[in-house]
Order: sequence, then structure tokens, then C-alpha cells
Amino acid sequence: MGDFDADVIGIGFGPSNIALAVALEELYPDVRAVFLESRAAPGWQSGMLLSGSDIQHHPVRDLVSPRNPQSRYSFLNFLHVEGRLFDFLNLNIPFPLRKDYARYVTWAARHFDDQVRYACPVAGVSAPDGERGATVHLADGRELRARSVVLAPGRPPLVPPAFQALADDRVFHYVRYLEHVERIAERPGAHIAVIGGSQGAAEVSLDAAQRFPRSRVTNVLRGFGYRQKDLSPFNGEVFFPEFVDYYYDASPESKRDLDRQLRYTNYSAADMDVLTAYHTRLYEQRLDGDHQIQLRRNTDVTGVTAREDGIALELTERHVGETTRLDADFVVLATGLLDLTDEDGPQFLPSLLDGVAGSVGRTPTRYARVGRDYRLLPAAGAELPPIYLNGLCETSHGLGDAGSFSLVSLRAAAIADSVSKVLVP
Ligand SMILES: Cc1cc2nc3c(=O)[nH]c(=O)nc-3n(C[C@H](O)[C@H](O)[C@H](O)COP(=O)(O)OP(=O)(O)OC[C@H]3O[C@@H](n4cnc5c(N)ncnc54)[C@H](O)[C@@H]3O)c2cc1C
Repeated sequence: MGDFDADVIGIGFGPSNIALAVALEELYPDVRAVFLESRAAPGWQSGMLLSGSDIQHHPVRDLVSPRNPQSRYSFLNFLHVEGRLFDFLNLNIPFPLRKDYARYVTWAARHFDDQVRYACPVAGVSAPDGERGATVHLADGRELRARSVVLAPGRPPLVPPAFQALADDRVFHYVRYLEHVERIAERPGAHIAVIGGSQGAAEVSLDAAQRFPRSRVTNVLRGFGYRQKDLSPFNGEVFFPEFVDYYYDASPESKRDLDRQLRYTNYSAADMDVLTAYHTRLYEQRLDGDHQIQLRRNTDVTGVTAREDGIALELTERHVGETTRLDADFVVLATGLLDLTDEDGPQFLPSLLDGVAGSVGRTPTRYARVGRDYRLLPAAGAELPPIYLNGLCETSHGLGDAGSFSLVSLRAAAIADSVSKVLVP
């Protein structure tokens, strides 16, 4: 390996890079990979493992099966190894529990303990002039050298403008919800504002109402109501591998058109079981003469002030223009996650790549140029070591890349194939 600490350094060890570890082991066992993960231990969506919540993809679209159905890292093999296959098959639910799938992800990750450094946050990546490969800067100041880097840090939370200047631990993103429940429990009768109209907003509103029976929950959503996720099998083909090629080659206008048509297969919508549970709960509380959960539809948060005794939200009804004030003890932002944007947007590249951003090529619409193999392409005349984006390429590769399990196994194989080629001396 010469001066390099690894052939591949993977940043983050969530599903995207776990799938890469599996692909490398099965397809290119000679490639030496090291993964750096900021968490202290493996896990998946630990802040949202709510009781009864389920996954949103077919369980066979796991870390490996669509690429290699014979792999020992499949969800079915996990159930078999845990001695629960028949119990699982006997369950009368369409999708596995989120807790079960998180356990599967953790089980798969544990096979690679010798390649993963946990509690090891990465601060950035640079490409020193005149040298091959990349330098990975750890948050503790140490550096590692790699011949290639695969970034899979997941998507950062999308924080609406009204909340961006606020640094207050009573306001948090829903992906960390369970980390805050003990603190909420210390305030019996707390008023919890849940901002958003997606699956996560409905799940948190329901969970908070049940977990804290004396609390009040106000769910503020911009739209008229909750929208059902688009589960049409025709539109479901957006998660086929062929769609990635089709989308990748499409013009910017066609990409926008496809995004518009297919948006509700993944965004701003919730599964029917969650909608039914939420809607029934609202109906039941009316029967009981209870007002624990309040829905504020067609409403924007137009101002936020952190006060000693709570968070004051200014709410503006979008169609009648009426402005009201809501005092909350906690605010949960169920406002989604950020994808890559053009250079004027909030996430042109993951901030970990600030050190190389100047060498990254731009598309005519000013997005970062990414190859079909997920490798970042250099600007004209610039040099860039092999750096791949694993799980962040929705704007170039389509909705199958929208932070979803659907194509994680095939994407990992495409990256592994490409990495194996760039490593050839
Ligand atoms: C509540 C919730 C439920 C979901 N359910 C589903 C579902 O049922 N089906 C589905 O297909 N998708 C689901 N998703 C989408 C989900 O994001 C993906 O399934 C999957 O987690 C994406 O994997 P990833 O590895 O790309 O990112 P992540 O899972 O976010 O993993 C990224 C990892 O990188 C680490 N990391 C980040 N920054 C650094 C750094 N600087 N240094 C070191 N490590 C770092 C993080 O700690 C994390 O472990 C859900 C998302 C949410 C929020």
C-alpha cells in the first residue's frame, strides 16, 4: 500500500457504506478498506425507532440481495441466524418493524468491526498538490492517507430559515427525537410543537401524545393536509436500476419534470397506516372531548424567539394571512433532509469536501459533476483524487439515490467496480 493507510477510506458507516463493505468483501477481497464512523457503535435511525413503526421499502431490497441474493449478509439470513425466520414470516404486517431492520443493519455492520473505527468523526478531506490520493482529516487532528475516498455521511437535516439562527437545545430535528424524550418527560404538561407534514411529523406527533399523556402537541404544517405516499407500482419503477441510467442521461429540464411527477414516491407524504392511525387518533380525541393534538394547517412559521420560559413561534396562516403566537416548550423539526444543490444552494457539496470544492467540475446548471460511477469529476484543468459520493446523488442519479435502501446494494457495487479500476497501478 506504500504511503497509504488504506486503498479506500469510507467516511460514515451507515447502510450506504456497510453495503460497500459487503460489496468489496464479496467482489474485491484484496482491496483494503477502512471506515470511519462518528457514532460510538453501529446503528440505524436510532433517534426514530418508535414502537410499532415500520420500514418503507421491501425488506429484500436490503444491503445486498438485489445484487447477490446468495449473500450471507441478507435480511433473510439475519432472521435465520437469529432464529426468527418463521416468527417473522408469521407476522401479519406488510413491512418489518423499523427496530428489526435497525437490528439487521447493526448485525451486518458487526461483521466488519476490524475495518471500522467508531467514535471517529471526520473533519474534512483534502488533496495535497502533487501527491496521489487524498488526505482524510480526523476531528481529533490526526490524518490518514487513502488512494480513494467514499463519502457516505447521510444527508444533513433541513432546517427552515426561521430556525437557522437559533441555537437552542429545546429545538431539534426529528431524526434525534428519542435522544430528547427524557428531557421532555422532566416537564409534565409540556407543549410540543411539531413542524412538518411528512411521515416523520405524523409519527412524532402520535408518539409524543401517547408517550406524554399530559402534554399538548401542536402540529404545524404548510399544506392543507397530509398527503398519502405514492405507492403506484408504475411510479415504483423509479426505484429500478434502469431508471438510474434513464435519469442520469436526462436533460436538466427532463430531470425537473420527472422529479415533479415522482416526488410523492418519497417526499412530503406518509404511508396510509400512519395516516389512518393519526387521523383516527384526532377523531377519537374529539369523541373524548380532548384537544391534546392540534393541527395547524396551511401555516408557515414566520418568526421564532427563544425565551427563558419557552420558544415563541409566530405562525402565519398562508391563505387568510392571520398571524398568531404559539408558545412551546420544545420544537421538533420534522422538516426533511438536504440533498445536493447548485452552488447557490445550502449544500453544493457535503461540507466535508470544502477542501477540494474548488477542483470539482460543474454541470451547466452549476451542480457538482458526478460520474455515473458516483465519482466526483474534476473541473477543467484541475486534478482530483478518486472521491465518491455514496447516497447523496439524487440530483444526478434520481430518486433511487434519495437516501433510500432501494438501490443501496447496486450502487455499492458500481462504486466498488470503479474503485477497483482506479487502484490498478
Ligand atoms: C426516520 C427515518 C426512517 C427511514 N426509513 C427508511 C426506510 O424504511 N427505508 C428506506 O429506504 N429509507 C429510509 N430512510 C432513509 C435513510 O436515510 C436511508 O435508508 C439510510 O439510512 C441511508 O443510509 P446512509 O448510509 O446513506 O446514511 P445514514 O444512515 O445517515 O448514515 C450515515 C452515517 O455516517 C456517519 N457520519 C456522518 N458524518 C460523519 C463524519 N463527519 N465522520 C464520520 N462519520 C460520519 C453517521 O454517524 C451515520 O452513521 C429513513 C430515514 C429516516 C430519517
